[in-house]
Amino acid sequence: MDLLFLGTSAGVPTKARNVSATAVIEASGSHWYLVDCGEGTQHRLLHTPLSIRDLRAIFITHVHGDHCFGLPGLLASAGMSGRTQPLEVILPAALHDWVRQGLVASDTFLPFELRLLPLEELIAWRSETLQVTTVQLSHRVPSVGFVFTEINPEPRLDIQRLDAEGIPRGPLWGELAKGLTVTFNGQLLNGNDYLRPSRPPQRVIVCGDNDKPELLAAVARGADVLVHEATFTQAVVERTGGTFGHSTAAEVARFAEAAGVRNLVLTHFSARYQNDPRRSPHIDTVRDEALAHYSGQLTLAQDLQRYHLGRNGRLEASA
Ligand SMILES: [Zn+2]
Repeated sequence: MDLLFLGTSAGVPTKARNVSATAVIEASGSHWYLVDCGEGTQHRLLHTPLSIRDLRAIFITHVHGDHCFGLPGLLASAGMSGRTQPLEVILPAALHDWVRQGLVASDTFLPFELRLLPLEELIAWRSETLQVTTVQLSHRVPSVGFVFTEINPEPRLDIQRLDAEGIPRGPLWGELAKGLTVTFNGQLLNGNDYLRPSRPPQRVIVCGDNDKPELLAAVARGADVLVHEATFTQAVVERTGGTFGHSTAAEVARFAEAAGVRNLVLTHFSARYQNDPRRSPHIDTVRDEALAHYSGQLTLAQDLQRYHLGRNGRLEASA
């Protein structure tokens, strides 16, 4: 899987960072999923190779505006771009009327079926290639993380089984490799029964706002990537006197170290952290604080940067 960050700022946008939105891209092909949709997410998309037509589903972590105010505009533009495939949006039930009424009041016609699914009732969302489950987090309002797990990644033909059943090499194998159903000796064979994953499934967790990283203990074990907010550093919290339902870089890093997380991606940075080295506090103070507690592969997410999770299990920035 790949990750492409469309917004990495907390609460308000800055010139360098938009508000929350993260694209999760399937390892094979162009299908992708959107986690959160802050205002202006569709503008960010214009700077990426991602197409709204290849968007499989949208997942919203919680009701706060910096995570969902981009939805009506994105949906309207999906309609204008001629999308006809149904689109599922998994979001808190409290937002359903807001989305529907916003579209109706603005006379927005969607040429595709919009399926709003209540986040609270989600057990597992599945496509042929991915399963998405939730983990409950702690914030000022109910908030979740989404756990993306591959199903049968990079399937290859189970040659042992084919040989054992005496199915001859040739065009038949080609059709089974595509997952098609074929007839052999008067029997129907389903290609999916002859496909095996060629590598272990990858698991990527993309979290909403959260002030208790330890809630992720069970799902973080064995996960390939954890994307978590680090809104503040300890120094800033000590000065301002609160985290307002958020985590510090140190808290997340300590948790990730204890849980053995291989790749930790921090995002959702307070707008006070600067990219300009002449201004303070600098974003590197977030990195330094995390590195003091975490020895795995640390990434500070940047807007419009794509990251690839390789077969070696390492998450690397793509060129
Ligand atoms: Zn929030």
